[in-house]
Amino acid sequence: MPITVAATNGGAAKAAALPVPVFDPQHLGKPPKRRAHKRSATGYIPERDEKTGDEIWPRGDEATWKKGLLTEPPEDETSISNAIVHHAQTTIARQPYNLDDAGAYQAVALAVRDDLIINWNDTQSHFTRTAPKVVHVTRLRTGRALDNALLNLGLRNKFSDSIGKLGFTLEDLLDSERDAGLGNGGLGRLAACYLDSSASMELPVWGYGLRYKYGIFQQLIAPDGSQLEAPDPWLNNGNPWEIHRPDVKVDVRFYGHAQRINRGRAVWTAGQEVVAIANDVPVPGYRTRNTNNLRLWDARPKSGFDLLSFNAGDYHRAVDSSNQAEAITRVLYPNDNHDAGKELRLKQQYFWTAASLGDIMRRFKDLGKPITEFPQYVSIQLNDTHPTLAIPELMRILVDEEEVEWSTAWQIVIRTFAYTNHTVLPEALEKWPIPLVENLLPRHMQIIYDIPQHQAVERKYPGDRDRLARMSLIDETWPKFLRMANLAVIGSFKVNGVAELHSQLVQTTILKDFAEFYPGKFRNITNGITPRRWLDQCNPGLSALITEVLGGKKDEWLKDLNLLKGLTKYQDDPGFQKKWNAVKLQNKERLAHYIEKTTGVIVNTDSMFDIQVKRIHEYKRQNLNILGVIHRYLEIKRKTPEERKKVVPRTILFAGKAAPGYYAAKLTIRLIVNVARVVNADPDVKGILTVLFLPDYSVSLAELLIPASDISQHISTAGTEASGTGNMKFCLNGGLLLGTVDGASIEIAEEVGEENVFMFGHLVEDLRYQHQYHHVNIQQRSQTLAAVLDEISNGRFGDGHVYESLLNTIRGNDYYLISEDFDSYLKAQEIVDEAYQDRASWTKKSIRTVAFMGKFSSDRAIIQYAEEIWNIEPTKLKA
Ligand SMILES: *Cc1c(COP(=O)(O)O)cnc(C)c1O
Repeated sequence: MPITVAATNGGAAKAAALPVPVFDPQHLGKPPKRRAHKRSATGYIPERDEKTGDEIWPRGDEATWKKGLLTEPPEDETSISNAIVHHAQTTIARQPYNLDDAGAYQAVALAVRDDLIINWNDTQSHFTRTAPKVVHVTRLRTGRALDNALLNLGLRNKFSDSIGKLGFTLEDLLDSERDAGLGNGGLGRLAACYLDSSASMELPVWGYGLRYKYGIFQQLIAPDGSQLEAPDPWLNNGNPWEIHRPDVKVDVRFYGHAQRINRGRAVWTAGQEVVAIANDVPVPGYRTRNTNNLRLWDARPKSGFDLLSFNAGDYHRAVDSSNQAEAITRVLYPNDNHDAGKELRLKQQYFWTAASLGDIMRRFKDLGKPITEFPQYVSIQLNDTHPTLAIPELMRILVDEEEVEWSTAWQIVIRTFAYTNHTVLPEALEKWPIPLVENLLPRHMQIIYDIPQHQAVERKYPGDRDRLARMSLIDETWPKFLRMANLAVIGSFKVNGVAELHSQLVQTTILKDFAEFYPGKFRNITNGITPRRWLDQCNPGLSALITEVLGGKKDEWLKDLNLLKGLTKYQDDPGFQKKWNAVKLQNKERLAHYIEKTTGVIVNTDSMFDIQVKRIHEYKRQNLNILGVIHRYLEIKRKTPEERKKVVPRTILFAGKAAPGYYAAKLTIRLIVNVARVVNADPDVKGILTVLFLPDYSVSLAELLIPASDISQHISTAGTEASGTGNMKFCLNGGLLLGTVDGASIEIAEEVGEENVFMFGHLVEDLRYQHQYHHVNIQQRSQTLAAVLDEISNGRFGDGHVYESLLNTIRGNDYYLISEDFDSYLKAQEIVDEAYQDRASWTKKSIRTVAFMGKFSSDRAIIQYAEEIWNIEPTKLKA
């Protein structure tokens, strides 16, 4: 699920800068009750002596407590080893003779967690005391946590030594950690990068998400090349990073009846009640003590089980309610950029939003401020439309529970939320059938009908029926649909796209009417990635080389990525180029080793590594790539053995998951696997062309692939990829970019210079009006492409009938315009081959690419959110 950033505001000075809403004092709502020792999320606000202002110790003998409270994290080798041995022996109850890598990993993780918890408790108490504004994030692909925690704490070397003394190696233990795959593609990974940057930039940001029992499925490839899906029981061996908090819970209701009473209020009763239980994951900042919180919700039945049924002898019925509640957080929906439209999915969305808002509201009330000041202490960032139900949910809490007058409540709501749009693809825009929403959330549907959207538009554009219909929250088809993007825009004070082109398209296509209606509400914040994971952690060789030439201080450039510009001084230095290429070769060897181990295929590390890894989707056009591969293969086959010696050798790698119900995407995987089989078995192209589909793409596999790339492909139909972050990861690791003029690739080209990237294909302006039926036949659109399609039909890569629907799509409508871009794609590939032969010039391009990637740090992006949207400032925890 998407981003919600719940920020609590950095205090009075900043808050005063906010436009102060004019409220009718009659409608200020109930004054909050003060509690003695107010617990916040993790800390508490200590009572203070009224005269001296000193904190009053909460309980017992202060000296005994203080002596026992762990204040010094273990930092020397002995105390680190002691902590590991202690956890191995007591927490997981193992002895040296039965401690395996998996057990040792748990013990080490728990020792590291001890450190994190001290910082985390201090950070949260500090936030509670200073009452900064807070922000939420979800659908996470955090990948592995241990390496990241050790890096951020600056303890990697010390732990490595201690682990060595205990007879293990850090690398093996790192490898035995499972990825936390709680999200789908780029969106979830983006949220994880933003959490890392929030903590590193010392911003008071909270993440909220669901603790799915099964994360993104594990991908297997069947003998015929098709994708199979297996469950991902990532929690089976326990998760040492989370802290279970059975005391932090929120009741959530579904179904039932909503009865209007007075002044816009209603009571919502009956239906199904479940409880959300919190699990907290500390998020350490890089080289700071600030440690933020990611709170993941578990669904549990409200009353254990139904005793009445149990006593009546119906045991199955008695545990049924428990099963129904737990089903809510059982499994992640595996769609990326596609609306699933299932009731359970809407239930997950509401469960997540209601639990998080209930929690935010409780923490806000602990501050003892009037409810009208809510937006000065809380911002909530809607990461895509998935958490949009938070808008009617906050209205429900304010109006029905806090008894705030309707229009005052609406003023609070529209000063609290901001919305990030992540796609303009029609199939990805969420719409929910009204009967479904009405049944599941009867009160929310009433609230949505009460939002005075219609009247506001009517006032500004009297009689403009078409505009009114387009801007409505309801799509008046049968059945009627609720348009989540419209609700998100209307309920938010800022709306942003995620790259320049995308933000333009948002304002000129899908949300055009709203951009006209609310001038100033729309803006751009280009995505970013964290250089800690996507350079230092995944590419230690390059990181060390960069540190060496930039003056030996890694933490400086990793916190200010613009310093990479200093690399340009050495771009032509042959000695430096040699070291640069040696690092690349080492990364290619590391990957080649993995490929041999997992697939048995031996790849030529002197060949150009050409990589396309991302979710498999028609708009991302893996089809364009594989059709180009077939063309290349046929061309090489036509050459004489003598001519073949002049071909630039390539290893072409694919990886990515297709949504299990996405037939066309799964067929693409099948085609890639079968092309690879034919090519790799053909002695004519041995060592010159190798093609592979690596199964089960994940953050960890990305960390292995990305540093090894000479070139990577980001070849979406212009106007369809909102930003992309894969493009940034590759360029930050010195891989050159082959891409269309789309998303953030445009800005990468602007930063690193057009001469250092390979761009091709139609521009969005050419294509905008062509998403229509293609009348011209395929032969006329591209003869080379027609020939490639015929080879597939004729069975060169296995039974051609299997691929009929894929081929017919391209020969017919060709919605994603493969045939429009095919020839220019092949041309670009020829230019790439030529450029690779001049190694000094290629290496210079690689160095310059890395040097100018500073803009794409998620630190820059998160600071923009903090300054331009949330109005929050860093809140540093002192040493
Ligand atoms: C970065 C990342 C993505 C996003 O890649 P794009 O090329 O931007 O689509 C998807 N999955 C994983 C595991 C990633 O790390």
